[in-house]
Amino acid sequence: MTAPNRKSDPLQQIRDQILERRRFLITSHARPDGDSIGSQLAMAFALDALGKEVRIVNADPAPDHYQEFPGMERIEIATRVEPMTADAVIVMECSEPGRTGLAGLEREYLINIDHHAGNQLYGALNWHDDSAAACGEMVFDLIQALGVPLTPEIATHIYLAILTDTGSFHHSNITPRTFDICRQCVEAGVTPAVMARRVFDSNSFGKLKLIGALLDDMELADEGRLAVLHLDDQMLAATGSTHNDTEGLINLPLTAREIQAVVFFKVTQNGQVRVSMRSKYDVDVRRVANEFGGGGHKNAAGFTVNGPLMDVRAGIVRRLVGAIAEGLETRPA
Ligand code: 5GP
Ligand code: MN
Repeated sequence: MTAPNRKSDPLQQIRDQILERRRFLITSHARPDGDSIGSQLAMAFALDALGKEVRIVNADPAPDHYQEFPGMERIEIATRVEPMTADAVIVMECSEPGRTGLAGLEREYLINIDHHAGNQLYGALNWHDDSAAACGEMVFDLIQALGVPLTPEIATHIYLAILTDTGSFHHSNITPRTFDICRQCVEAGVTPAVMARRVFDSNSFGKLKLIGALLDDMELADEGRLAVLHLDDQMLAATGSTHNDTEGLINLPLTAREIQAVVFFKVTQNGQVRVSMRSKYDVDVRRVANEFGGGGHKNAAGFTVNGPLMDVRAGIVRRLVGAIAEGLETRPA
C-alpha cells in the first residue's frame, strides 16, 4: 500500500486554506437539523479558537429545542449572502448549493463538506465522505487537523450532530469511529443523558397531543410493513402545536417491530407536498427520494413534489413497497 498523498487529500487542502484565509461564512441546508446545527457551531467555535472572523447564516431558524445549545444566538437568518464579505464560505451538509436556500453563493469561494451520497462537488474545494455517519464526524476530523483542542462547546456540537443524524444511534451507517468520536466528546465534558433529554425529551404539550393525533390517523400498507403519516395545518391547529413540533415524529412508527419504513406527507401552504421517509436496516429510501428529485441517506431521505397529495401518494407508496421488498432480502439475522 502506498502512503496517502497529503497534498491531494481534500481534508489537508481545506485545512491549509482555512489557515490561510481570515473571514469565514458558514452555512448549511434550509430547515436545519441537529447535524447541520452541530457541524456549523463546532466549526465556528474552532475558527474562533484560530482567531478567525466567523458568521453563520442559515435560511431558516433551528427548531426550538436546539436554542439552548451554546452559540445558537450567533446564527443569522437570511436568504442571500452579500458579495465579498467573506474569504471563504463553508457549506456543510449540502449535496448541491441550492439546498442552502441562500442566493449569491455562486460568486463565493466555496468549501463543500458533506456526507450525503450524490454530492455534486460544486465547491472550489470538495470533501465528500458518504461513509461518515454525520457531517459532524467530518468536522471532528477537520478540527483535529487544524490543531484546535476539543473544548466542551465543540464536543457538545459534535455529539449533537452524531446523536441526531444517527437517529439516536439507530441508523445503519454507524461505525467504531462514530463511538470513538463520541467517547472523546464525553471525555471533553459532554453528558450523554443531558444531551438525549434536551434533544428528545423537550416536547411541548402540543407536540404530545400531535403525536396522538398523527398515530391515530396512521395508515398501514404492505401488510403492516409501511406506515403512512399525514400532516396538515388543521392538525397543528387542533392540537395546539406548530411546525416546530413536527421534528422527529416520523420515527415513531419505526418503534413497531413489523414496520420497515415510514413515509410522512406534509402538505405545505403553497400546495406542495413535503415527503420525508425513514427505514430500517437495508431498506433504501434514498433511492426512492432520488427518483423524485430529492436525496438523503439509506435510512433517512426526503423530497418535495407538487400536489395534490391524492395524485402523488399512490406512486410514492408503490415505490416504497418495492424498496421494502428489496431491503428485506438482505436483512441481517
Ligand atoms: P428529512 O426527512 O429529515 O427532511 O431529511 C432526511 C434526509 O434527507 C436529510 O439528510 C436531508 O438532508 C435529506 N433530504 C431531505 N429532503 C431532501 C431534498 O429535497 N433533497 C435532497 N438532496 N436531500 C434531502
Ligand atoms: Mn447529516
